[in-house]
Amino acid sequence: MNTLKSVKDVDLGGRKVLLRLDLNAPLKDGEVSNDARLRAALPTIKHVIENAGAVALASHLGRPKGKRNAEYSLEPVGRRLSELLDMEVLLAEDCIGDSVGALLADARPNSVILLENLRFHAGETKNDPDFARKLAAPFDVFINDAFGACHRSHASITGVVPHVSESAAGFLVEKEVAALSTLLHGEEHPFVAIVGGAKVSDKIGVLNALLKRVNTVCIGGAMAYTFLQAQDIKVGSSRVEDDQLRVARDILENARLRKVKFLLPLDHTCARNFDQNESPVVVADQHINEGLMGLDIGPQSRDLYVSEIASAKRVLWNGPMGVFEWDQFATGTNTVGQAVADSTGYTVVGGGDSVAAVEKADLAEHLSHVSTGGGASLEFIENDGVLPGTSVLSA
Ligand code: AMP
Repeated sequence: MNTLKSVKDVDLGGRKVLLRLDLNAPLKDGEVSNDARLRAALPTIKHVIENAGAVALASHLGRPKGKRNAEYSLEPVGRRLSELLDMEVLLAEDCIGDSVGALLADARPNSVILLENLRFHAGETKNDPDFARKLAAPFDVFINDAFGACHRSHASITGVVPHVSESAAGFLVEKEVAALSTLLHGEEHPFVAIVGGAKVSDKIGVLNALLKRVNTVCIGGAMAYTFLQAQDIKVGSSRVEDDQLRVARDILENARLRKVKFLLPLDHTCARNFDQNESPVVVADQHINEGLMGLDIGPQSRDLYVSEIASAKRVLWNGPMGVFEWDQFATGTNTVGQAVADSTGYTVVGGGDSVAAVEKADLAEHLSHVSTGGGASLEFIENDGVLPGTSVLSA
């Protein structure tokens, strides 16, 4: 594990700073509909503005696939950021080129420059050296506070580093790395992971990595049915990834060899069809008969998972226990969320859907850490604390 160099340890005075953020916020009708990522970036933005000579903020937004596309302009993000910072945000027409240098030269107090979407250039995701050099050219210092993008070797994450005189991590990256490291490398047991969501295929790496560290895994969501079917337990018409049955058996065997308790739902909340208006049918058995599909864990499973969480000293929760978007199938997810919030252990929630569930139930303040970077936090666990974006920021 490397030690991160912190923005606090960089003398920013009079220097030009490129500040990479994850401002990839959801938009609705041309406005930012959830500004959580913008708020999470504020401490570093304020610190850099207060201390640097000039600063330009950079981010990606959506997937414009290397072409300029007004739909993915950072303009609405700039507007919301201006309100949050209570200062003028000047949107540069591009993220490279003469206009950036000109804006920096004219930088005014109480204003900040926001570069246009990095992904308007194909060189960003390809980590093209020429694009990275152009992006870094006007700057002396690079600060990365885009934790949600640190698992990508993109130009604005790793490529710019050799082209500036100093690079460091922002407060959010530091906080994420510290929290996830405490979770992974802590010594207190039991360490319980609750893993749910749609697909086994998305979680193979993270499950195998977790098996090296945890005492117990509680599985929920659609992925549970692939694990059950892999053991010839009837799952009715539940969603199963047929091409992952072998992988599921390998994970079960890995858990057995490592003496990890690998818990699957004991009972289920089912429906006849995958439909929002379906009434829930509780199946008080691990087997589900034809004609029914599991859409949430059942009451016995909830009790089992809650008791595991209650005795845990470290807890990781990633992925919903069922189709939590529909209230009648959200009980498993909400119950697990509440149990994690009630835990006196070190609790981390990561992954878009479980974070959404935590926010909906207002539980965030009762957790040790809520990770803002879904993919990055999973890769951090999978690669034992190493991410491309953080390993280039060593002290
Ligand atoms: P993920 O993106 O992997 O976190 O998966 C989250 C999605 O899985 C959510 O949209 C859930 O509605 C869905 N999901 C969870 N449990 C089930 C289930 N039993 N059957 C079908 N979809 C599910």
